[in-house]
Amino acid sequence: MKDIHFICTYCHKIYSSDHVHPRCDECHEPLEVETVERGTISGGNSLNQTILERYADFSPFVHIDKQLSLGEGFTPLVASPKLSSGLGIKKIFFKNESQNPTWSFKDRGTVFGIQHAIRCGYERIGTVSSGNMAASVAAYGSKAGLRTVILVSATIPMEKLNPISMYGPMVITVDGDYGDIYFRSLDIGKQNGIYFINSDVPFRVEGSKTIAYEICEQMNFETPDYVVVPTSSGGNIRGILKGFEEFKLSGFIDRVPRMICAQASGCSPIYNAYAAKKETISRVDNPETIAHAIENPFPPSGNEVLRKLRIQNGIFVAVSDDEILHAQKKLAEDGIFGQPASAVGLAAVKQLMNRNMVKEDETVVCIITGGGLKYTAVYEKHNLPIFNCSLDNVNSFIAHHA
Ligand SMILES: *Cc1c(COP(=O)(O)O)cnc(C)c1O
Ligand SMILES: [Zn+2]
Repeated sequence: MKDIHFICTYCHKIYSSDHVHPRCDECHEPLEVETVERGTISGGNSLNQTILERYADFSPFVHIDKQLSLGEGFTPLVASPKLSSGLGIKKIFFKNESQNPTWSFKDRGTVFGIQHAIRCGYERIGTVSSGNMAASVAAYGSKAGLRTVILVSATIPMEKLNPISMYGPMVITVDGDYGDIYFRSLDIGKQNGIYFINSDVPFRVEGSKTIAYEICEQMNFETPDYVVVPTSSGGNIRGILKGFEEFKLSGFIDRVPRMICAQASGCSPIYNAYAAKKETISRVDNPETIAHAIENPFPPSGNEVLRKLRIQNGIFVAVSDDEILHAQKKLAEDGIFGQPASAVGLAAVKQLMNRNMVKEDETVVCIITGGGLKYTAVYEKHNLPIFNCSLDNVNSFIAHHA
C-alpha cells in the first residue's frame, strides 16, 4: 500500500490504510481514501492493461496483482445522435457499463476491494447485495480462490439468484431489507474474519473513479456539463465525482461536471431529503420500483451524497416506473439494452429537460450501470410483438408488412 489514509467524509477523522471497517467510529459516516492531488495516466497499451495499471497513480496500491483481474472497465462511451435530437439536447452519451465481466459497473470496485482484502491477509470475502454486487464479488472471489459469502435479501427476484450461485460462492438469502443487512454485515464480518466488499466501502468507491477517468480520456478531456448516475447506496456517484475532482487537481480537465443523482420515485431517500431540505436521509417505508438494483430504502452513503452534491451544485431527481420503462425501451431501440435501473439516467434527463433544468445547448453523459439480461421479467411490461408464419407464407408476409 502507498502511504495513504482513510478520512471520515463527515468529521474528517483520520484512519490508517490497513483499517477495514468502512465507517467512522465517531460519527458513523463512511470513510474514504484521501484524495490524490497529483497524478498522471500511465502510458501503454490499454488492450493488455488493467484499469488498476492505467490509473495506478490514482490507486492506493504499490503492488498490483494482475491475476485478480477479469478485464473490467475500458467500457465504450456511445454517442446517440438519435436520442439527442429526440430530446432536443446538444449531445448525449452513454457509458455502457454492461460490458463489464459480470455485466455491471460493480466489477471496477470489486477488483480494487479484493486487492485490499488480500493485502490485509483475508481468506474470506463477502458482500451484501440486491444482485449485481453479489454476482461481481462471487466471480472475483472464485477467481482469487477465496471463500465467498453472499448475503441477499429474501425478496430478491429468483432469476437473479442462479447467476450469482453459478460462480460457486455461499449464497444466503436473509429476511430483512438491504439497508438492515448492510449494517449487520459489518459485525458479521468482524466476528468471522470476512472482508465485506459492500456497495460503498472505500475501495469500491476508488474503483468507480475509473469511470470518470475513462470519460475524460474518451472525450479528449473536454468534460460534459452533466453526468447522470442511477443511485442506490451512493458509492458509485461518490467515486465518479471523486475521479473528476482528482483529474481536475492533476490538471487534466478545467472543470468538474455537475452530478445528477437519479433515483426511482418508488425508493428515493436521497431525493426526498433534498426536496425536504434535510441534512440527513430517512428510511423509505415500503420501497417499490421496477428498478430493483437501486431499491435501497436506507442508503449507507446517502448523507454523504447529499453533502457533496449540494457543495458542487449537483441535481437530485426521482423518476416514475413509467418514465423508467419508456427510457429503457428508447435506449434499446438505439442499441443499448440496460436493466431498468440503468434507464433511470435517460429518464432523468428527459424530465429535467421538460423542467428546463438541463438546457438544449448542454452535453450529458448517462451511466448505463448494468445489462438488460439481468432482469428478464421486465419483458412482460413492454408488450413486445413477435410474429409467426409458415415457411410458405414468410415471403408474402414480409412483402405486405415489413
Ligand atoms: C449497484 C447498482 C446501482 C447503484 O449504485 P450505488 O453505488 O449503490 O449507488 C445502479 N444500477 C445498477 C445496475 C447497479 O447494479
Ligand atoms: Zn467521522
